[in-house]
Amino acid sequence: MKVFINPGHDLVYDSGAVNPNSGLRECDVAAKVGNAVKEYLEAAGCECQLLQSDNLYWDSQYADRNVSVVQSANDWPADIFISIHCNAANGQVRGTECEVYQGGGSSAFLAKCIQSQIVSSLGTNDRGINERPGLVVLNSTTMPATLIEMEFIDNDDAAELLMEQWDNFSRAIARGVTDYEQAMGF
Ligand SMILES: [Zn+2]
Repeated sequence: MKVFINPGHDLVYDSGAVNPNSGLRECDVAAKVGNAVKEYLEAAGCECQLLQSDNLYWDSQYADRNVSVVQSANDWPADIFISIHCNAANGQVRGTECEVYQGGGSSAFLAKCIQSQIVSSLGTNDRGINERPGLVVLNSTTMPATLIEMEFIDNDDAAELLMEQWDNFSRAIARGVTDYEQAMGF
């Protein structure tokens, strides 16, 4: 199975959410987890491409971001697309959720596979699968796609979990993907 991995945001141009106390940046957590997920999936026999960029779908203002995430996935073409993020709210909320373009179908099944692996192995609050049709990585990709919000980086305990357990988040995401792969008969 061909898996496109998009760690959220951009290491140079867009940090994503930042923990106000520790300074932990969403883009760094996403990069670390994304690279590990790629290694685990390749070891499991998947083909992977990974791209973290401010250019999601020709929407970057930076001239050196001249490759688009969504275009790369569509052109390959990937069998599935996963975007890796950390959530943020008011510093109090905690938990894991996966976003999809719409409920039902392969994207929601992929999201469910990943969500259950994270929740069961990390013990995070299960915030479920949510429809976010406005997200470009979900509405412009041509294959099953989900955006994973691993935990809330602006909550100090959750940020600590992300820092200490990033490898277990990575393993859980990879297991969710291979659960999907097996169930779909790739
Ligand atoms: Zn994000």
